[in-house]
Amino acid sequence: MQTSKLARLEEQAIRILLEHEEGILQSELWHMLGISSREGSRLAIKLEKKGIVRREKVLANERWTLKLIPLIKRFDPSPLFGAPCPLCPFNPNCGPDQSVSPVGCTLIEDWVIRSYREGRKEVS
Ligand code: SF4
Repeated sequence: MQTSKLARLEEQAIRILLEHEEGILQSELWHMLGISSREGSRLAIKLEKKGIVRREKVLANERWTLKLIPLIKRFDPSPLFGAPCPLCPFNPNCGPDQSVSPVGCTLIEDWVIRSYREGRKEVS
């Protein structure tokens, strides 16, 4: 299989896996991707080596097969909403070795404390 085709299949597989947090039978994934079991096995091994899935032996339709359990999750940016950095005038020069640093930044500190307090209110 060509490297570019494998990379494209990998990307498609990851999209499908993100929709199946509980896991998906590898045969179902191959079917959705329109690839052979040989190509699919190579892809699954690659995904496992990268730490994207865990392959688990399961009994399905009276046959042993492998289920691919995703070890990745969709990124949820919502905890970052309201962070002061995107609108901060110091942003272009802010970083660990820059003239301005997040360490000791009162804006980020206030935001973290406020977010924590608001999160605690939602829980209680
Ligand atoms: S860490 Fe502070 S100074 Fe740096 S970009 Fe964010 S708000 Fe601005």
